[in-house]
Formats: sequence, structure tokens, C-alpha cells
Amino acid sequence: MSLSGRDLDGLRASHRGEIISAGHSQYEQARRVWNAMIDRRPAAIARPRGAADVIAGVAFARAHDLPVAIRGGGHNIAGRCVCDDGLVIDFSDMKGIRVDPARKTVRAEPGLRWTEFDRETQAFGLATTGGTIGDTGIAGLTLGGGFGWLEGRYGMTVDNLIGADVVLADGRLVHASAAEEPDLFWALRGGGGNFGVVTSFEYRLHPVGPLIIGGMVAHPFARAAETLKFFAEFLRTAPDECVAAAVLMTGPDGHKACGIAVACVGDLAESERVVKPLKTFGPPVLDVIGPMPYLAQQQLIEAAMPPNLLNYWKAEFLQDITDDVIRIAVDAFERAPSPLSSILLFPIRGQASRVAPDATAFPHRRGYHLGIYSLWDDANRNDANIAWVRETWRAMQPVATGGVYVNELGDDEGVDRVQVAYGLNYARLQRVKASYDPENVFALNANIAPAAV
Ligand SMILES: Cc1cc2nc3c(=O)[nH]c(=O)nc-3n(C[C@H](O)[C@H](O)[C@H](O)COP(=O)(O)OP(=O)(O)OC[C@H]3O[C@@H](n4cnc5c(N)ncnc54)[C@H](O)[C@@H]3O)c2cc1C
Repeated sequence: MSLSGRDLDGLRASHRGEIISAGHSQYEQARRVWNAMIDRRPAAIARPRGAADVIAGVAFARAHDLPVAIRGGGHNIAGRCVCDDGLVIDFSDMKGIRVDPARKTVRAEPGLRWTEFDRETQAFGLATTGGTIGDTGIAGLTLGGGFGWLEGRYGMTVDNLIGADVVLADGRLVHASAAEEPDLFWALRGGGGNFGVVTSFEYRLHPVGPLIIGGMVAHPFARAAETLKFFAEFLRTAPDECVAAAVLMTGPDGHKACGIAVACVGDLAESERVVKPLKTFGPPVLDVIGPMPYLAQQQLIEAAMPPNLLNYWKAEFLQDITDDVIRIAVDAFERAPSPLSSILLFPIRGQASRVAPDATAFPHRRGYHLGIYSLWDDANRNDANIAWVRETWRAMQPVATGGVYVNELGDDEGVDRVQVAYGLNYARLQRVKASYDPENVFALNANIAPAAV
């Protein structure tokens, strides 16, 4: 259904926050997302100022039969937080946050990015597991799982979520927690935006920093295979406090390299001892591992993945870093078409791996997240970059678990891939979907088909 100016005036009358539609000075900017491959033109972008605005937005979309997209930080690679001809509920103007230092909890609104969130919690010497790149939104990352530097000691982001306020498809505003709406609370922790619109998150916090031992080492690409082998060995005995990730990348000097980024959040002297093997192996050609503010760690690799570039990604889970994984990754990276392409191996370890796969909706509780990423800026290079990611992903199939991180599913992935992203939890998620959103109002996501009732 197309909207008239009068329809939008009706929405404006019931909405405290801004309504942006075609012709508005901010429309072109507001419809852009992190991945510049996504180019969609919504009928309207509503920027709520509170839960009442969200209720009005959902009611308006339903009354006009409009698809509803929900935008947190706008980082999802598939870009489903923006749609053609529908309503975008865009949380850019909802960035409220309040830390309760006595209870070590925080209430945070869904427009926040991790940099903004961390800054406020670190003011009290506290933090929770968030994404490794501070520019990413807290909302989508939390609802999909959330791996990050603190997961070894404190679990994934979903493991630290203790409550959420949610506007449901029927317009009700509910609080979901272990005690209230427990099925919804279970489903929110990995089931994404399928069940409603979250207007406030509550997280558990932990004492972190302000100084930690963090940073990165890099080795020449010629030694990538032995570096990856060393990396996997290192993690086999590293304590929970230590999370490290390996990345095949191109350095600022234009040469391909193998990096290991690390964060160790225990006692500083003990952490120095833990990371010592990372500093002596090789030795590395670059070593910036040492004491640094946790806030700096959260921005360590941000420059490697800037916004507004063309992106094509594919992901997978691996049981382990075997010789075959190493051979395939190194061989593929030789042919990486863009200096911003990378292959990431991020472990699910420590406390994150001790949570049962069905305790929350996020099921992938061991092994490594494999990210095959291409970023480039010349649209003439689309085919080469997409082909490289797809070929690398295909080559990895014999050594992969078949699972995939729901937050890194691309725009072109089929229903089968969505189902393996939810894994053993899919059937229960379908039942929760049927009770909270039977008409699939919230369909612009890695969509869960409501169970037949
Ligand atoms: C550069 C970069 C680095 C990344 N690093 C990490 C990392 O270290 N760890 C990790 O786990 N992931 C990482 N990711 C993946 C990240 O988890 C996803 O991109 C995630 O979707 C980002 O959340 P967002 O709010 O920015 O996304 P958006 O695109 O705004 O939202 C994604 C989806 O979440 C849902 N959603 C958003 N807000 C709400 C809400 N308020 N209520 C209900 N549903 C909502 C919607 O379905 C929406 O389509 C990274 C991504 C990028 C681009």
C-alpha cells in the first residue's frame, strides 16, 4: 500500500519523534546502512523517543499493511533494518543509558553503539561482553548472540542480558526476563528481531579495567600457516580471561599478513604473563600488545572495517583449527581481491562455551566463528569480490560444522541457512513465534516461520 501525505500526518500526530519520508532533507542519509550494497527506499522512517512512539509506529504499519523494519546501529550485513516501501523504526534518537553501580546492571536503549555503551559503563569501571568493533549497534548484536573480548570470562552478550522491554505485534508493551514472559526472554537471546521491538535492554555488568592487556601482533603472510597453528595451540591452554582472534588481512604497508588480536582481562601482571608467548612466537613483525584502556581495545580494529563500503560476507562455524582449515584459509587468502578483504577466526570459548546450546536461543557454543569478509569501494569489482567470498566459503564446507552465526547471514541466504543458524533451537523458536507474532508482522530479519497451531 502506498502512503499519502495525510497518512503520514496521522503518524506524526501520534508520534513524539521525527518522521522522515522522501523529500525530507535527512531522507537520503537516514536510509543508508553500514553496508553500501544495500539501497532501499522506505515509505517512512520513524525515529521514536520512547516506547509509546514504537507502539504508535507498529499500529500505523499494521493499519496500512506496511512491512516493518527495525534499526539499531544499522550494521547488519543483510541490511534488513531498512526496507522498500515500508516503515523503518529507527532507534537513532534513543540512546539513553543508566548504570546501577550497586547492582552492577545497566539499562540501555537500542540506539546505542558499543562505543557509547562502553564509555558510560567504564565510567564506573564496569563492562559487559559487546562486539569487537565499537561502532556496531548494541541492539542487533545482542539479539543475535554477541561474541566479544569478554566472552571467555563472562559469557556472550546474550548470557548477560537480564531483561528487555518489548513492544509486541499486538501493541502490548511487556517486560521479558527469567521471571516474566520467560519463553519470550529465552527467544530474544539469539532469535533476533522476530518477536517484537525491544525498547530497552537490561544487562549484567562486571568489573573490567580500566586497563587491560590487549592489542595485536602480526606475522608475514609467508608464515601464516605456522602462525595459525600456534594460535590454535595458544588458545588450548589460555585461561578464560584471555580471548584471542586470528585474522588474515592486508597490512597498512600493502602486504598480506596474519594477525592475532588479543584481550586479557584478569590481573594485569598475570595477563602479561599469559600473552607473553604471543609476543615471542616468530617473532612478530608488529607487536602492539601491552597495557591499554579497555575502551581502546574496543576500537582496536575499527579502522579495518569502515562504514559505507561495498560488502559481501559469508560465515560458518568450525569445530577446530585443523591443518585442513589452515591450508584452505591460507590458499584462499592468497587470492583475496581487495586489500580490505579478511578471514577471521574468532573462538567461542571459556564461559561462552559452558552455556548449554539450548539454554538461550543462541546454539553455537563451541569451536570457531569463521568470517569471510570482502569490503571494497569500486562497484566494478562487485563480481570479483562476491566470487572470492563464495569460493572460499565453498572450499571450507568439508571442514565446517554447517552452523552459521545468525548475525552474519547475508541478504541472499536461503531458508535452509536460516534454520541452521538457529540449529537445535529452531522448532522451539517457531512455537514462541506462533504465540507472540503469529501473523509474522516482524518478518524483516533471519525469519522464523511461526509454528502451525
Ligand atoms: C564491522 C562489524 C563488526 C562486527 N563485529 C561483531 C562482533 O565482534 N561480535 C558479534 O557478535 N557480531 C559482530 N558483528 C555482527 C553484528 O552482530 C550484526 O551486524 C548486528 O546485527 C549489528 O547490530 P545493529 O543494531 O548494528 O544492526 P541493525 O542492522 O540495526 O539491526 C539488525 C537486526 O536486528 C534487529 N533489531 C535491531 N534493533 C532491534 C530492536 N530494538 N528490537 C528488535 N529487533 C531489533 C532487526 O531485525 C534488524 O534487522 C559485526 C558487524 C559489523 C558490520
